Amino acid sequence: AAREAGVQVRLLQKVERVDCGPKPVVHLANGAQCGGDLVIGADGLHSQARRALNEASQPFFTGQVAWRAIVPNHSKLPAEAQVFMGPGRHLVAYPLRDGSLLNLVAAQERRAWADEGWHLPDDPENMRRAFAGFGGEAHQLLSQVQDCALWGLFRHPVAPHWHRGAVALLGDAAHPTLPFMAQGGNLALEDAWVLGAALQAQPGDIPAALASYQTHRRDRAARVVEAASRNAWKYHLRAPLSWPAHQILKLGGRFAPQKMVAQFDWIYRHDVTQQG
Ligand SMILES: Cc1cc2nc3c(=O)[nH]c(=O)nc-3n(C[C@H](O)[C@H](O)[C@H](O)COP(=O)(O)OP(=O)(O)OC[C@H]3O[C@@H](n4cnc5c(N)ncnc54)[C@H](O)[C@@H]3O)c2cc1C
Repeated sequence: AAREAGVQVRLLQKVERVDCGPKPVVHLANGAQCGGDLVIGADGLHSQARRALNEASQPFFTGQVAWRAIVPNHSKLPAEAQVFMGPGRHLVAYPLRDGSLLNLVAAQERRAWADEGWHLPDDPENMRRAFAGFGGEAHQLLSQVQDCALWGLFRHPVAPHWHRGAVALLGDAAHPTLPFMAQGGNLALEDAWVLGAALQAQPGDIPAALASYQTHRRDRAARVVEAASRNAWKYHLRAPLSWPAHQILKLGGRFAPQKMVAQFDWIYRHDVTQQG
């Protein structure tokens, strides 16, 4: 008879520390401990699991901040990402919720440091002021913003070690990325698929499965993170480079749109479910 798997979900638990080893232990803020055959640290940017596996690393401010806002899709922008570029800044808009809303991410270069959290509220006027030179659609979109959050963009090194004993890192805990390729969430999903496949392939040997998982994922994640970091400067070109670069982009978009997009096939057409 099939044995029913029991799953216990404990909400609102704060993890204070993770002890690695063949029988890992997770220490909770309320004093309780839990563990299991395998602990997966999918605990994001400020991961406790990453600390357990790696030396502390120092993130650095990239000199860029981003505002995030949601506005109604009055202009019925299609289900594609729109990028509006200007010197030292760019605005990305893409539809949410069946196209009824638009997500706006507006990045600006600046010297002053800003907090790394996603939820620091800011005055929409600051966002509009930063993009005052933008006209047309971009101006329309920004004029609708009623609430926005400002977040400082930091670079973090990809974690050198993703596993030890029966503890593994996954997602932002292992490789937080700048948003310029829209890949953070996607990388986490890809990790999960590859980790699951590795554990299925070597069910009796968790350390070997985790080693195979890191081998399959680390270089790719590092390459995507690097590509996202490089992409910002292309969007933020200033005169005299901006005019010829934008003409090339316009012409490429008009006459060879497939070729323009194909340069990122290694990211957007990658299918982890088809990997051996
Ligand atoms: C504005 C914005 C736009 C984005 N747009 C995109 C996009 O278009 N495409 C894309 O692919 N990605 C995007 N991302 C990135 C994406 O959101 C992240 O990469 C993704 O959420 C990472 O998933 P994760 O599960 O690794 O970590 P998270 O989503 O950060 O989840 C970590 C979880 O762990 C919990 N946690 C943390 N510490 C503890 C602790 N000590 N104890 C208990 N629980 C803890 C947190 O509460 C959280 O629930 C965007 C991010 C931002 C900020």
